[in-house]
Amino acid sequence: MGGSLSRITVEALRWLLEPRDTSDARVPVLIDVREPHEFAAGHIRGAISIPLSTLQDRVGREVPETRSHVVVYCSVGPRAEAAQEALVRLGYKRAVALSPGYVAWNGSLERAPESSLSAQRYARQRVLPEVGEAGQEKLRNARILLVGLGGLGSPVALYLAAAGVGTLGLSDGDEVDLSNLHRQVLHTTGRVGRKKTDSARRAILDLNPEVAVLVHDAARESNVDLWLTGSTAYDLVVDGSDNLRTRYLLSDAAFRHGTPLVHGAVHRFEGQVTTLLPAAAAARRGLPVSPCYRCIFPESADAGLSPSCADAGVMGATCGVIGSLMGAEALKLVLGVGTVLSGTLLLYDGLASTFRRMQVDPSCPRCVPSA
Ligand SMILES: [Zn+2]
Repeated sequence: MGGSLSRITVEALRWLLEPRDTSDARVPVLIDVREPHEFAAGHIRGAISIPLSTLQDRVGREVPETRSHVVVYCSVGPRAEAAQEALVRLGYKRAVALSPGYVAWNGSLERAPESSLSAQRYARQRVLPEVGEAGQEKLRNARILLVGLGGLGSPVALYLAAAGVGTLGLSDGDEVDLSNLHRQVLHTTGRVGRKKTDSARRAILDLNPEVAVLVHDAARESNVDLWLTGSTAYDLVVDGSDNLRTRYLLSDAAFRHGTPLVHGAVHRFEGQVTTLLPAAAAARRGLPVSPCYRCIFPESADAGLSPSCADAGVMGATCGVIGSLMGAEALKLVLGVGTVLSGTLLLYDGLASTFRRMQVDPSCPRCVPSA
């Protein structure tokens, strides 16, 4: 999160935009990073519309001069903050975010304060002693990377967005297929053929426009390290991917960077969930280091849950059960409450309606060098 130097108040922006008869050198470039329909409903005069998800691709064309003084804004702040961070990374060192945002600019903040709207939205969870005002703030400051926007990623994304997680990164390389829809409840019939990241972004913003949604490509060796390092690193990874290669990749990266990771997988009527806590993440919570994914599923072994949904089939509601458990693990990690499934693989048998806990210890050569 940027400091006060990266923000500009509504009053300061009004002053900058006031007509003057002297030089106009201080007039900033205004970028509205909200969705096109929000822009169409009203925007600050002179602003250009570049929705957050397209910012990286379009800003170079729209604002070729990186030394420009750029002001980005959204409705209430989180998307503008994400945009400001992205712009600074792209070399726009003078980019600032309008705080709070358009609702304050056009006066609607006076009629319906953001704080009271948020208070209503989160009232039933904020009343929980484990959440409260402080917990809601932790959720707002959380940056969670969600890899895989399928059967598991769908409930995870919806519950994290609904709970008010401030920043959600979305990674998936696939397009929505009609055969996905019996289990991938983020997507709709009307969005078949669209990129899953775009479809998921639409669903998340429809549910909670306060979430800053960042769209990424599929996870690869070349990008996962970037996502987990630096000032804009994600502080938690939720792995809802459907293949072993990605699971090893994410687990390895999480353990390299000390980032906690929630893993889930489904197969027919069965599923599994566990939370991986590398040393740094475990130490922050006063917990023992957990095994990594390689400890639980050695690469050579038949991992059991490896055949894809296309080959083996899967019950949609099974994804809902496991994905919801993954969402609960992620929220507990952010809030720092309860006991997470660290060192425990929770196994669900949907036909028998039973859960079984399996203890797993670090055992792979990386986690136990002498092994
Ligand atoms: Zn290991």
